[in-house]
Amino acid sequence: MQPLSLLARRTLPPSIPAAGRIKTLSRHFAQTSLAMAPISKETDFLVIGGGSGGLGAARAASARYGAKAMVIEGKRLGGTCVNVGCVPKKVTFNAAAIAEALHDAKSYGFNVQETAPFDWTTFKQKRDAYVLRLNGIYERNLANDKVEYVHGWAKLLSRNEVEVTLDDGTKTVVNAKKILIAVGGNPTIPPQIPGAEYGTNSDGFFDIDTLPKKVALVGAGYIAVEFAGMFNALGVETHLFIRYDTFLRHFDPMIQEGVTKEYERLGVKVHKRSQAKKVEKDEKTGKLTIHYKEGDDEGVVSDVDHLIWAIGRTPATAGLGLESAGVKVDEKGHVVVDEYQNTTVDGIYALGDVTGRWELTPVAIAAGRRLAARLFGPEQFRTAKLDYTNIPSVVFAHPEVGAIGLTEPEAIEKYGRENVKVYKTNFTALYYAMMDPEEKAPTAYKLVCVGPEEKVVGLHIMGLGSGEILQGFGVAVKMGATKADFDNCVAIHPTSAEELVTLK
Ligand SMILES: Cc1cc2nc3c(=O)[nH]c(=O)nc-3n(C[C@H](O)[C@H](O)[C@H](O)COP(=O)(O)OP(=O)(O)OC[C@H]3O[C@@H](n4cnc5c(N)ncnc54)[C@H](O)[C@@H]3O)c2cc1C
Repeated sequence: MQPLSLLARRTLPPSIPAAGRIKTLSRHFAQTSLAMAPISKETDFLVIGGGSGGLGAARAASARYGAKAMVIEGKRLGGTCVNVGCVPKKVTFNAAAIAEALHDAKSYGFNVQETAPFDWTTFKQKRDAYVLRLNGIYERNLANDKVEYVHGWAKLLSRNEVEVTLDDGTKTVVNAKKILIAVGGNPTIPPQIPGAEYGTNSDGFFDIDTLPKKVALVGAGYIAVEFAGMFNALGVETHLFIRYDTFLRHFDPMIQEGVTKEYERLGVKVHKRSQAKKVEKDEKTGKLTIHYKEGDDEGVVSDVDHLIWAIGRTPATAGLGLESAGVKVDEKGHVVVDEYQNTTVDGIYALGDVTGRWELTPVAIAAGRRLAARLFGPEQFRTAKLDYTNIPSVVFAHPEVGAIGLTEPEAIEKYGRENVKVYKTNFTALYYAMMDPEEKAPTAYKLVCVGPEEKVVGLHIMGLGSGEILQGFGVAVKMGATKADFDNCVAIHPTSAEELVTLK
């Protein structure tokens, strides 16, 4: 058996810092130990990145349209979503939701006695095993769809040539008629403050193997907010550092303000207008002390088990050889594409997170499938492309949040205040009927409508079950429904969602 450190050097890209390499390797180990088959030297469609978008494109190209397709993946199949994103995150959210339900059960007359703290360690082991199973399923899916899968790191040499560095360090060059860049992104490196390196990032969240007592998160995006909500629900003292007064700042103000207020009510220590300045580590206990500025004041949080930087994601283009092929990137490093996912180089395409538009799994998959149809499908798909308008998105916060279309300020800016009509409601869901006032979480819904026909251009919901509710309403908004169409749909009673078809 090779020492892990040696294997790590060979199988991980140089961009992964030494400390992270061993941990990262343990996640990759199942796949790096696979026997290596010879690689084809030529292919119709070479896909760099076996994540959501890359797999969606390669499988469709091969299974639906008969193209010879190859996927190169350096880490684990399934990409961010399966390994360090949506899937393990939602499983953790479910654990947090169960903790909340156990708490709520008392209000319904159950005598639930928790005799031990949440067994995070066993939970994590089961979650890891589930993800590993998914990796295997993804690999079998590729085989069933006759996509050639190569475990290694890809680098563009020219517009038709890709160099692949295999697990054993050998390099091989593949000639491809068409190349897809679907390399996703990585958590953004924290700011240059002393001790920043003692923190981890969203990938590291999934390595935490015992229930922490106290955590700190930096960031105001959905990843920081979701993690903070889960920790808090599981009884962990949670500090959230944000730069402004609210988080989820791409969402409608109703959501920003509503969820921020609710997190404070639930006990998350939200440090507004704050900035981490220094992190110290007690070498004996491993605990962290975070020095920060909050407005004009200075503060300290000590005895922190984990600090998680969740300050955005950076496209994974370093070392990809984009310059050799002439592929342009924008000022943030995202690959520049047109509406058909064409890069600036003929025959090279890009989609998913690396292009920086709607960084969501179903978006990457949908763009991938459409691209495969356009490149390899029959004539009727020659103009196939993904419509990036009205994409629904959800935050698994506490409570859940869902949104599609324009926020109220965006609608006013686009259509003028006089043409925008907003319907909104705040209420307490029936679920909380049995609870004391201080146990009740708010629900808030908003419809943003424009023009005399009151076309619904924005729908924003916060409350129990928002993730599930939004999918159906998303269809209606995508179809161009008006307020009258909403009202014409008979309510389902008693639900929360019925309020959306009875708004006055
Ligand atoms: C914590 C977290 C939670 C999330 N939750 C959700 C959610 O609930 N819902 C949702 O829709 N989205 C969620 N996302 C976003 C979602 O994971 C991404 O939008 C999605 O994975 C993007 O797919 P992609 O194909 O563009 O890239 P990725 O899935 O990131 O795949 C890119 C792949 O390319 C590989 N790669 C990179 N460079 C190379 C190279 N040079 N050679 C070979 N391989 C390479 C990488 O190893 C990676 O596997 C979440 C993300 C995070 C981080």
